[in-house]
Amino acid sequence: MKRRTFLLGTASGFSVLALAACVAPAPVPTPSVVPTPVNPSLVPQPLAVSRTNWSTDPFSRGSFSYAAVNSTPEHRAALRGAVGARVFFAGEATAVDAPGTVDGARTSGQFAASRVKDVAGPDERITVVGAGIAGIAAARQLVDAGFNVVVIEARDRIGGRIDTVRGDWPFPIERGPSFVRGASESFLDDELTALGVSLIPVVPAPEVRTRAGAVVDASPLGAQAVAGALRWAAEQQSDVSVERALIDSGEADLSTTPNADGLSDADWLEYEIATKLKVETGATPSLQSAWYTGDLAWAEDDKIVVGGYATLLTHDADGLDLLLSNVVNRIAHDDDGVSLRLGTGESVSADRVIVTVPLGVLQDAAIEFSPALPFAHRAAIAALGMGVVDKVWLRFDTPFWDTEAQLWTVVGDDPDFPLWVNMMPLTGEPVLMGMVAAENATRLSALDDDAFLAAALTALEPFLAVPDAAE
Ligand SMILES: Cc1cc2nc3c(=O)[nH]c(=O)nc-3n(C[C@H](O)[C@H](O)[C@H](O)COP(=O)(O)OP(=O)(O)OC[C@H]3O[C@@H](n4cnc5c(N)ncnc54)[C@H](O)[C@@H]3O)c2cc1C
Repeated sequence: MKRRTFLLGTASGFSVLALAACVAPAPVPTPSVVPTPVNPSLVPQPLAVSRTNWSTDPFSRGSFSYAAVNSTPEHRAALRGAVGARVFFAGEATAVDAPGTVDGARTSGQFAASRVKDVAGPDERITVVGAGIAGIAAARQLVDAGFNVVVIEARDRIGGRIDTVRGDWPFPIERGPSFVRGASESFLDDELTALGVSLIPVVPAPEVRTRAGAVVDASPLGAQAVAGALRWAAEQQSDVSVERALIDSGEADLSTTPNADGLSDADWLEYEIATKLKVETGATPSLQSAWYTGDLAWAEDDKIVVGGYATLLTHDADGLDLLLSNVVNRIAHDDDGVSLRLGTGESVSADRVIVTVPLGVLQDAAIEFSPALPFAHRAAIAALGMGVVDKVWLRFDTPFWDTEAQLWTVVGDDPDFPLWVNMMPLTGEPVLMGMVAAENATRLSALDDDAFLAAALTALEPFLAVPDAAE
């Protein structure tokens, strides 16, 4: 039997890409558009498209943080450390327990607010930079405690990476988070439900198709190889990348000989990497920490939000003093307080500030700190990774597919869109959401809208309904 070390020499992936940090600024994500027909594939032209581009978004610089090789949870704890009891940090990257999530971001905002309350006098003025869920949660807590709070936000809307769009879609679509993972242990389930937002359980077993469109049973081989590699890495003296762990543990040494269904054992490892490791972290395995990459499998209590994640924010932001469309580009502090310089050249003074901008913005040094941040903060900013996951939403006239499955995946190569959510069984509407991650997302981020759409429609070809033989 022909064997090879799977990860070495594949043409499709694993090049070490610096993700968000080295991508030049560009316009914010494009809104819904009615596309002009450029579709070379057999998949029909959609009626509406909404595409994200989080890596080039100047106020995000990536989608969410991940555990880069050699980073540790202590880096996140260091990042949320207060500087001179004047400058506090919050946001998903500072969450030790649930980084990269809405849960983690919100808890981090509440944590920062409680730290401020510990040191602040009753009449103090507190500024919060960023009106994502961390910033809104911090401000809400401080306002409710009687502080004078202003939230300064670069965008013309609140929510940050929570980006619910209504427009001409038949239901609100989510350009940022869509899922509540582990809903049974999350405050979000009850809270969103109380706000009238539907959360629908995700069927954890996706339908798997080959590029040729054949439906195949998912093999556990890829997941087993990754789990074995992570177990091996846990025994090592130092952290290594997930890619290195797969290779050095021997777990990546899989057969490339096709079985009866045309798929090899190595294809299932590539499938696991594309649909789980890359989609869940936004990073290629050569950048991910083997020590701190956890279990990424879908669970029975994962849910998808249908009806507006942003409802959570509008509720919490009620009555807050918001300064929208104002970019903070410098934060200075001394024993007397803090001074923030805005993009307009104006300054805002406060007693203390909570900075909730994404890790990608900090890595990009888009805000100058004076004095410079302490070493522990700078080390954390450099060590943690900012992953990239982008989404495309497509609305069709009628379904071109005949599967009822909620989640669609493709095995057999390194597809640009390894995961699709079929909203038809969830909403009755012929709407699909595709996800592209890691280096695939970075590459597609450079495409214009027409080329990006063409790539998405080509990726959907395995799901074209097979015409009835009698027709
Ligand atoms: C595509 C995608 C899919 C995701 N999927 C999920 C999911 O299914 N489940 C889940 O739990 N999480 C998911 N996440 C992660 C989740 O969205 C984030 O963890 C969370 O929303 C982060 O909140 P935050 O307040 O920390 O940051 P943000 O929401 O990014 O808020 C930071 C704010 O700071 C503002 N800002 C930036 N720079 C400046 C500046 N210089 N001056 C003033 N303001 C500034 C930004 O505009 C932003 O509003 C996803 C994220 C993305 C992008």
